Amino acid sequence: MQPDSQKTNTSDPTGNRPLIALRKVGKSYSTPAGEFPALREIDLEIDSGEFVALTGRSGSGKSTLLNLIGGLDRPNRGEVIVAGVSVHQVPENALARWRGRNVGVVFQFFQLLPTLTIAENVMLPMDFCDARPARERRAHALELLDRVGIAEQADKLPSALSGGQQQRAAIARALANDPPIVIADEPTGNLDSETSRAVLGLFRRLSDRGTTVVIATHERDISGVIDRTVELVDGTVTAGLSAATGRPEQGGE
Ligand code: ADP
Ligand code: MG
Repeated sequence: MQPDSQKTNTSDPTGNRPLIALRKVGKSYSTPAGEFPALREIDLEIDSGEFVALTGRSGSGKSTLLNLIGGLDRPNRGEVIVAGVSVHQVPENALARWRGRNVGVVFQFFQLLPTLTIAENVMLPMDFCDARPARERRAHALELLDRVGIAEQADKLPSALSGGQQQRAAIARALANDPPIVIADEPTGNLDSETSRAVLGLFRRLSDRGTTVVIATHERDISGVIDRTVELVDGTVTAGLSAATGRPEQGGE
């Protein structure tokens, strides 16, 4: 009996490999001194389910690259293709909704809305994308908070939580609409080292469940937790261009 290939369980709903592809991407900023090239001719592919760390000194282009992947910014040249969509061509008025469903975003300073409870913060992207019936949203938020280990904080305001707990809440919020991709810009930059390890472990588990995770980071000693390091120097990728081959495939359930 042949298995039905249509039902093969892949973590990439589009069946596209790579899930993220940048082709000859250039991004420059206009400054008083003229055009400043933040990214030069980037060719980069990231597979579905990979956990990739962007490294490099401050100013090397990590945030710019993440922002292009998340459709938070647009390239001047080249193509950014994410889950089969040419993100650089998505009209401005459709970008936020596209991002809401496809890319969960985590920031260094958490950016939780201070007047909403933790559960309400996690429900916001669900409300925005209308991704599931309103009556199911709170239960889903509680499930996500449980997954990141802070279910008991659900009805508190962000200010009542520690930095590490706030970042866990921000990760739960990023997962609200079950996006295939999570990007995080220095997500441990404001956390102590023990909390940082726990947060990186959360991303590792996400990746093991099939989510593609791309972070910018200055953390050392991450080689054990990530699949691949992509190193940037002055807007150019100098190492880690292609997918690591050493990591064993995650088996099915
Ligand atoms: P990183 O995240 O690695 O620190 P960035 O992507 O933030 O690097 O920045 C790359 C380069 O682009 C830096 O030299 C930075 O000064 C410049 N840059 C970033 N954003 C802007 C902007 N909005 N206007 C002008 N220059 C910018
Ligand atoms: Mg940055």
